[in-house]
Amino acid sequence: MKVLATNDDGIYADGLWALRDALSALGEVIVVAPDRPRSASGHAITLHKPLRVREVSLTNGEWGYCTNGTPSDCVVLGIVDIVGKPDLVVSGINVGANLGEDLTYSGTVCAAMEAALFEVPAFSISITSDEVEDFGPAAEVALRLAEEIGKHGLPPDTFLNVNVPPLPREKVAGIAVTTQGRRRYQSRLEKRLDPRGKEYYWLKGDLEDALDAGDTDVKAVARGFVSVTPIHLDLTDYGFIDALKGWDLFRSR
Ligand code: MN
Repeated sequence: MKVLATNDDGIYADGLWALRDALSALGEVIVVAPDRPRSASGHAITLHKPLRVREVSLTNGEWGYCTNGTPSDCVVLGIVDIVGKPDLVVSGINVGANLGEDLTYSGTVCAAMEAALFEVPAFSISITSDEVEDFGPAAEVALRLAEEIGKHGLPPDTFLNVNVPPLPREKVAGIAVTTQGRRRYQSRLEKRLDPRGKEYYWLKGDLEDALDAGDTDVKAVARGFVSVTPIHLDLTDYGFIDALKGWDLFRSR
């Protein structure tokens, strides 16, 4: 199996190398990752400046390719030039949850989305904590998923988004197949004054995770389960199409 590994926390992030080590059991794992942290870069690509790629050696003897681009740039560069079409793209292991409506903000998730656009099976994997001591349980989940994808493949236009609770292996309740949940924030902006008395803003948000009906990703990790959500590239709201057609959109003024 040939695997392309990337992330949005940058090439020096421990989670990326834990992922690489775990997936090495399946074959060749080539790392193409941003040269700096690019969290919350979403599905951004770089169109207006040159993209550079260089090889990086780490002190532990590992090496990989890094770019000055976004996570999605890394996937494009990896598939089109550096690696060739791999059997699998994996993005992570991210430090921090990627749940509910946060998916489209996430560089981690959107790197897997980019791979799906190339018709390459992919998943993103995150630990739902901002401080991670042990990537081991998540790395094991990544390996198991990679093996299953190797066996079953994934449907067209679909990738998997995986969230792992920050628990020791024996405390993980199990693995749940979930739907994308709801994750809304309260008071998203803080307005402050800089030392010169000028206003600036800081984006923030107090989470109000709605433990709504259904087997959602938010609910699963809150209950100690690993959440695996199949995500489709098509965001259309099919249920609204007929009602929308009924609007008088073409009336001339
Ligand atoms: Mn990140």
